[in-house]
Amino acid sequence: MQIQKDLLTINEYSRPGTKLKKVQGIVVHWVANPNTSAKANRNFFENRKNGKSGYGSAHYIIDLDGSIIMAIPPEEVAYHVGAESYRSEALKRLGSYPNSTTLGIECTHVDWNGKMTDKTYESLILFCAELCKKYNLDPLADLYRHYDITGKICHKWFVDHPDKWEKFKQKVKECMDGAAENKEQVKFNLLGKEHLVEGFIKDGKTYVPARELLEALGFTVGWEAETKTVSVKKKN
Ligand SMILES: [Zn+2]
Repeated sequence: MQIQKDLLTINEYSRPGTKLKKVQGIVVHWVANPNTSAKANRNFFENRKNGKSGYGSAHYIIDLDGSIIMAIPPEEVAYHVGAESYRSEALKRLGSYPNSTTLGIECTHVDWNGKMTDKTYESLILFCAELCKKYNLDPLADLYRHYDITGKICHKWFVDHPDKWEKFKQKVKECMDGAAENKEQVKFNLLGKEHLVEGFIKDGKTYVPARELLEALGFTVGWEAETKTVSVKKKN
């Protein structure tokens, strides 16, 4: 994935410049400021160096358009999950100071519920899959909401919708598995005629592109991007 480096100045409030021990988890946050860009949030972290707006930062920020800014290199500590007290379960897994063992990703969002654009959400899935692979992490166990570590309502959308959080982690896992999967050919016998189509079988379901199959059956297939509709017509 394309990550745009826009590093903070080293300063005691948002980029201490200390070394991260080992990446043992990835923490997902919301920026808690609807419709602000990744750049604006990066600048907010940068301005903390003046010492007037407290401590805090994160390694990455995902924009409303899905692009990603790196504000702190992953080899360094960011101040994204520090607290007076932590959940004991999290400390068992991440050590006594989770900032030194985790990477923080901030997500922009469109309202106070924390709803993200499709592009932000898709980027978050892809990026978490990439990081889990890179650091050898299990997406079902090593992805955290800020909430899971300190109890803070962050990422709010995923705190209010625990089912969506579970689904998200599952999606990251699928994304990792999918990348490892070899594309296979699936043989179809359509009304007596054999066709080979690119596809794969997963969890007992056969996945093939709708277009290939329908065209082989003699239909014309169109795609309307605007309404995300596949239109199927009989060939005359
Ligand atoms: Zn947070």
